[in-house]
Amino acid sequence: MNIPVPPITARVFCIANQKGGVGKTTTAINLAAALAKLKQRVLLIDLDPQGNSTMGSGIDKSSLAHNLYQVLIGEATIPEAVVASESGGYDVLPANRELSGAEIDLVGMDERELQLKHALEKVELHYDFVLIDCPPTLSLLTLNGLASAHGVIIPMQCEYFALEGLSDLVNTIKRVHRNINPELSLIGLLRVMYDPRVTLQQQVSAQLEAHFGDKVFKTVVPRNVRLAEAPSHGMPGVVYDPSSRGAQAYIAFGAEVIERSRPNQT
Ligand code: ATP
Ligand code: MG
Repeated sequence: MNIPVPPITARVFCIANQKGGVGKTTTAINLAAALAKLKQRVLLIDLDPQGNSTMGSGIDKSSLAHNLYQVLIGEATIPEAVVASESGGYDVLPANRELSGAEIDLVGMDERELQLKHALEKVELHYDFVLIDCPPTLSLLTLNGLASAHGVIIPMQCEYFALEGLSDLVNTIKRVHRNINPELSLIGLLRVMYDPRVTLQQQVSAQLEAHFGDKVFKTVVPRNVRLAEAPSHGMPGVVYDPSSRGAQAYIAFGAEVIERSRPNQT
């Protein structure tokens, strides 16, 4: 007897925090590379016109045949725009400054917040994980990311104002869940650039655990200069210096994300 096997489609996660410089891109690149090392097929989508995920994956953002902009306005498909990150072992849907024009061009389109979701539907069987590196805004681009995703991973520094920004983001996730994407959930909060010697960081970290419980990832990413150096070499930190403490943390985080992505875990 033939037992039908359900198609295994990609888990799609946004790496989001509207605060700037909190480690979204570093997390997106290193999680992509860690998952690739763990034998997962990964697509990293650079949803930020700054193009940092693109460059940090070793791809020159100034010489792209296509980028996410053409995909969002329907002028290219994802397979046409995708570039392989040779250093990282994953695929990248790249971006550059051209993408900022999408904010304006999308406004006049039907289902303007669903363009990325529709484009992704055609490739979701090709990947195990799709990671979306969001810009530091709650813009129409970010909305396209949240509308496409199963969940959100929030990297954050354990500082006083981080908690304030967090409630805005959690409310946005709830609103998107209610109005646009009922599949969307908070996957977890990732503590990054952590320095255990700083008392305030310990306190905020403890508050996070008290408040969010299981939604705080067990892995903590330390402040580690090797992670900051890696992008200038066009490599994820986990490839540039795999034995560094930062790289080891992101490998552990990759395993934790796979564990949390099993059915009924999110
Ligand atoms: P933006 O909001 O501009 O998109 P971002 O949230 O994507 O920023 P990153 O670009 O990942 O943040 O990180 C900001 C800076 O902090 C970068 O210079 C990066 O190299 C550095 N950084 C990130 N994580 C770490 C870490 N764990 N240890 C040391 N430096 C880090
Ligand atoms: Mg970034």
